[in-house]
Amino acid sequence: MNQSNKPASINQERSQWINRALILNLLRQEGICSRATLSRLSGLKQATITNIAGELIQCGLVVETGLIAGAKGRRSIGVTLNDARYKVVGIRMTRDQFYVSLVGISGKMYEIRPYRIEAEETPQSILSRIRAAIGQLDQEYPKSELLAACLAMPGPYREDLDRLLFVTERTGWQNFPIHAVLSEGLEMPLYVLNDAKASAFAQLWFRWQEPAVQNMAYVLAGQGVGCGMVAGGKLVLGQRGIAGEFGHSSIKFDGPLCECGNRGCLEKYCSLSALRAEILRLLRTRRNSCLKDDDLSNASIAHAVQNGDPVAVQAYEKVCELLAAGVSAW
Ligand SMILES: [Zn+2]
Repeated sequence: MNQSNKPASINQERSQWINRALILNLLRQEGICSRATLSRLSGLKQATITNIAGELIQCGLVVETGLIAGAKGRRSIGVTLNDARYKVVGIRMTRDQFYVSLVGISGKMYEIRPYRIEAEETPQSILSRIRAAIGQLDQEYPKSELLAACLAMPGPYREDLDRLLFVTERTGWQNFPIHAVLSEGLEMPLYVLNDAKASAFAQLWFRWQEPAVQNMAYVLAGQGVGCGMVAGGKLVLGQRGIAGEFGHSSIKFDGPLCECGNRGCLEKYCSLSALRAEILRLLRTRRNSCLKDDDLSNASIAHAVQNGDPVAVQAYEKVCELLAAGVSAW
């Protein structure tokens, strides 16, 4: 904050915003910190840290924690992000479920609630249930303020158009204005992002100490196959926000037709549906499996693979080999 009566210049204001963001980010990474440690880690003067900490405490984003051990045996007052007051909402959508989670501004998860999606349910109805679930959380945590929500969607999402270009195995979402519809009456900023990119960003946030995470490709293979890329510690979105969508690269020009219009997309060979189809094929001739063709839920398959079921393992290895081939060819 400008301590004199003169208005702050644009540069001064900008550097103040950058410094506040730097301190908030350091607190997210370190958890609890003394002002002296914040000064050392940020390179900012102690007086500047004292001012910023004072502002952040005043607006409730930061709280003091009491005495903590400091350098040279000295004890000093710790500061930390104020999860009790400020939280955010994370929503993850899959083809048959959505999850609504409550997360503190420190990144700590407090709750995650799963909701089933019926096969014929429309995007309008699903988004309306998501809005209701957020409203429910808001009511159940009256002492917390929800600052923002982020929705992770399967499929390539164009933020500039507010459109999912397509999503396999789910109708109605293509070209549906997700952000516009969900943000109606939500009363908080909403961010919509592709799920693989959101996962890559989460890795970057939570594994920030690992140098390898600063430059990586995060492959998310589930009902679809997607990829989030990080370069130089930043999420790569590409010109149209769809960088890394390699699930729809063709690995067989005369392969099965995909919803995207291509033939032989990687996703057709190594998604959960492909795994299920391979298990069904093997079950036709093999009896040495605990799996039944009328119960191939994700949980049953995962359990069978973990316990070394021969059919499940053979199918799983085949799908993983194809995924590896697709990743290395990409
Ligand atoms: Zn495709």
